[in-house]
Amino acid sequence: MRSHYCGGINESHIDQEVTLCGWVHRRRDHGGVIFLDLRDRDGISQVVFDPDTPESFELAEKVRSEFVIQVTGKVRRRPAGTENANMSTGQVEVLGTALNLLNAAATPPFPLDEHVDVGEDVRLKYRFVDLRRPEMLNRLKFRSRVTSYIRNFLDSNEFMDVETPILTRATPEGARDYLVPSRTQEGSFFALPQSPQLFKQLLMVSGIDRYYQIAKCFRDEDLRADRQPEFTQIDIEASFIDENTLMNLNETMIRDLFRDVLKVALPAFPKMPYSEALQRFGSDKPDLRIPLELIDVADLVEAVDFKVFAGPAKDPKGRVAALRVPNGSQLTRKQIDDYTKYVGIYGAKGLAYIKVNDLSKGIEGLQSPIIKFLGAEVALAIMERVSAEDGDLVFFGADRTTVVNEALGALRIKLGHDMNLLTTEWAPLWVVDFPMFEELGDGSLHAIHHPFTAPSCTPEELVASPETALSRAYDMVLNGTELGGGSIRIHDESMQQTVFRVLGIDEAEARAKFGFLLDALKYGCPPHGGLAFGLDRLIMLMTGATSIRDVIAFPKTQSATCLMTQAPGTVDEKQLRELHIRLRKPPTPSAGGNITAEGVMKVDESGNN
Ligand code: ASP
Repeated sequence: MRSHYCGGINESHIDQEVTLCGWVHRRRDHGGVIFLDLRDRDGISQVVFDPDTPESFELAEKVRSEFVIQVTGKVRRRPAGTENANMSTGQVEVLGTALNLLNAAATPPFPLDEHVDVGEDVRLKYRFVDLRRPEMLNRLKFRSRVTSYIRNFLDSNEFMDVETPILTRATPEGARDYLVPSRTQEGSFFALPQSPQLFKQLLMVSGIDRYYQIAKCFRDEDLRADRQPEFTQIDIEASFIDENTLMNLNETMIRDLFRDVLKVALPAFPKMPYSEALQRFGSDKPDLRIPLELIDVADLVEAVDFKVFAGPAKDPKGRVAALRVPNGSQLTRKQIDDYTKYVGIYGAKGLAYIKVNDLSKGIEGLQSPIIKFLGAEVALAIMERVSAEDGDLVFFGADRTTVVNEALGALRIKLGHDMNLLTTEWAPLWVVDFPMFEELGDGSLHAIHHPFTAPSCTPEELVASPETALSRAYDMVLNGTELGGGSIRIHDESMQQTVFRVLGIDEAEARAKFGFLLDALKYGCPPHGGLAFGLDRLIMLMTGATSIRDVIAFPKTQSATCLMTQAPGTVDEKQLRELHIRLRKPPTPSAGGNITAEGVMKVDESGNN
């Protein structure tokens, strides 16, 4: 139907006849001449109709925004002074000789310009229109370039693309499963995969050697700003490989991707142990663009009369840390109050601070409501520990270790952005040496990665002290966002059994849930490992989008609904009966058929959760 894309016309086509198809982006009537900006996914061309071709001129008068048309005409240079340097087609225009109306269009629900001034709920409801906006379209194009780049990279490194089932059994990635009732097996349910984890491991047992898949994953979690109930992973697994080779390969992939697609040279990825990341940055995904660091001062305040500090300092599960903010003494009372409220979100009960006015005056040069509780000697020792300088402000966190890490970890990021402290645009790293387990509130252990992750110790050592055992897991972090993570897996049946036992999964349960994996480990399982990248997050970071929904064609709202298709919806009684399901409560008439915009999240500027 067409000879060129609208965006593909340039000076090399002058005097050629072209046929374009697309949507009417704008129509202008300049007394006797009609200008149509014709848009398709490639760009916009200006088409001019004059009364010399009365039939098409008349039609051109009738078309409106978003009408779908086909135009034939001759390319010519735009008259001097009317060129548009901002458009790739801005030197030329098409003198239309024929216009074919392919379809009319109702007035769009919102104008299709860059700065769409309409609620996200309306954009999601009319997503098919929203995706016509160049901003959205460009993100989808970018996403497609990235996936094709990654496929090429992996293909040329001998990875094989293998699909794994969507209707499957639960995989423990730590989230709630989406369930699908079985019609043929009464009372049984499939789970949608939280990841292809077990299948990719089984593919290694099969000898596939190197696998990848751009895989849909499903996790029924309460959604945060950068989460979606269904999301896409670049899922990778390889055999006969160790963690360093795997990390190098994936680092190369991401570095090449950034270099070729974004023209960004990423620095080398340092490797940082998990314990160091928490110690220095309060987070296992530290944002290394921000130079502020947490510094432990518990030993200095253990003996002070100030219970707020002394309590956590003496508690083995507590932490007292300082965060020195260069030039922070310029912060106003109001700003400090706001930061105090901010750390409250993370459970901090307060935010103590000391302003460093003039260190040459000793204790007189420090200003803070807590100095009288600490005493001069301790206060000055802290200043020395954190290398304070005149004009600084030192914040403190004193609480359970997790609270201090989360509160000061978040505060350093907020301060970094508020005070423009970012030292670089891109700061990648690997976080390594994760603990195998974390303790839940009830004292039970939970796998930090997943229970198929290999420990760095023997089964005997693991059983002897599971709390201190480290795993062979690694996360790739960029600018404070976890881009991906994975591990070397357990390939030995008895080690797998040991891990299940430590996790309180007895033999019968292990057999019932993972019998197929335990069987596979018996039949010649090679040493293997892998990782998965969150594609949506990667694209979000690379495009600078502020919401994960802006890089997904048809995303869900925060309440996990689709405003366009109104999914999830109710089903009729007959279908339920076939599935052997009776609802506890009959659906309300509006349920499913009347999803509102409730839950469309406010944009999270940092892109962090
Ligand atoms: N299955 C893991 C995840 O989804 C990734 C991996 O271990 O390869 O996080």
